[in-house]
Amino acid sequence: MKKLAAAALAGVMVLTFGMTAMAEGDVLVMATNAEFPPYEYREGDDIVGIDAEVAGLIAEKLGMELQIEDMAFDSVLAAVQTGKADIAMAGITVTEDRQMMVNFTDTYTKATQMIIVTEDSEIASPDDLTGKTIGVQLGTTGDIYVDDIEDATAERFSKGFEAVQALLQGKVDAVVIDGEPAKVFVSQNEGLKLLDDPFTEEEYAIAISKDNEELLEKVNTALNELKEEGEFQKVIDKYIASDDAAEAETEAATEAK
Ligand code: GLN
Repeated sequence: MKKLAAAALAGVMVLTFGMTAMAEGDVLVMATNAEFPPYEYREGDDIVGIDAEVAGLIAEKLGMELQIEDMAFDSVLAAVQTGKADIAMAGITVTEDRQMMVNFTDTYTKATQMIIVTEDSEIASPDDLTGKTIGVQLGTTGDIYVDDIEDATAERFSKGFEAVQALLQGKVDAVVIDGEPAKVFVSQNEGLKLLDDPFTEEEYAIAISKDNEELLEKVNTALNELKEEGEFQKVIDKYIASDDAAEAETEAATEAK
């Protein structure tokens, strides 16, 4: 009898413990910067976009509820490192420096930095950026890239959109930013054009704390399942209309597997 009671008690304890762990793990907190269409941006009170939706699908696969925390782009990796967020998904390019700070999942998109100029600009290629004033978003790969251009001055903005405004007002000569948001900003503002030459091949991945290998594995499994099931591509197609862009994304998604 006693043995049975002890076993039952152990069972209850396991159950309680299990439930507590579940309750804590119920919510998947994602750090992002919702200023980066079509990956993450605000639509009314909601944060929508490719990353937001893919993260929602990943959370669903993990049996968790997604909670998105919007912050400055240069804070998203720190949020993961300090445990304020479980994952960071913000069109984050994998770089060696960042790999020292966090773990990255498999990559899910290929990207490039692009140059936006005004329609009448004399800047026609990356070489023409020498000595120019260039608007970038603080802490991004665009920011890092511009740092390497001879005699160029980087004007750093907390939002890509603000850099584009500065270009329209003639405060900067060009904006260097990721290709897809660049296309969105050019389409939303008259008098701007995108230079053809993309430079810097980059790839996006989801960042997770180095202390949470288990979550890294789970998120990777979920991400790869979404790619295999075609669900990932469906999200891309919803947000990136042009055929060639969608094709490029498919290529990236397939290669990244
Ligand atoms: N892909 C760029 C980076 O990782 C920009 C990301 C962003 O602005 N959200 O630095």
